[in-house]
Amino acid sequence: MSLTVGGIEKFTTVNYPGQLAAVLFCRGCPIRCPYCQNPSLQDFGGTDLIPWDICVEFLESRKGLLDGIVFSGGEPLAQKDLKSAMEQVKAMGYLIGLHTSGTNAQRLADVLPLTDWIGFDVKTAFDRYDRIPHANGKEAKTCLDMILAAGVPMEARTTLDPRVIAPDELLPLAETLSREGVKTYAVQEYHDFPEQNGAPDKESRTAYFADKDLLQKINGLFDNFIIRHS
Ligand code: SF4
Repeated sequence: MSLTVGGIEKFTTVNYPGQLAAVLFCRGCPIRCPYCQNPSLQDFGGTDLIPWDICVEFLESRKGLLDGIVFSGGEPLAQKDLKSAMEQVKAMGYLIGLHTSGTNAQRLADVLPLTDWIGFDVKTAFDRYDRIPHANGKEAKTCLDMILAAGVPMEARTTLDPRVIAPDELLPLAETLSREGVKTYAVQEYHDFPEQNGAPDKESRTAYFADKDLLQKINGLFDNFIIRHS
């Protein structure tokens, strides 16, 4: 077993709601969001990998100090060894968190019984995933349905990039998620990195947050509605 890990955040209070956690950043992602904050983790290879036994050593040293371990990325579902890694971490007594964009329903089915909380990226309307190279809205929707059917506590979240979701598409998406049974929904402003070409200006990136009526309507659709500014 060898999960490919590109980084570890040793302590976080924000990546797993209500729990003290560490984050394992799985290396590799099959899709290409224009706003990706971890572009260095998109490639599956690299020389800066953290060997799994080093990760295990770290996790052993934090027993009793941390509640949970979050598998983030990159895209954890892109890795065939995710399930065995989760089993190992679970056996240490940790809660398991998963950050995913729902790229592989079969692999999700394998790990769903092991997960205690999921942060699920919803990129845009499921029939408009063609705006992101290699993304698959049908697969993502299948994954969301599976998570909701399993009853695993989860947060759906959407990063607000006008290249991917226009301001007037946000309410219909929120209504869809609410109808499906999502109880916690977060919208996230994204950072504009200098190296990103063609990134929209700050005014376009923040237009969603200026529309108080829109935010109020979305707020009414969920038990918890979270606005995250960058
Ligand atoms: S799914 Fe996440 S890691 Fe993959 S390209 Fe998008 S933002 Fe980056």
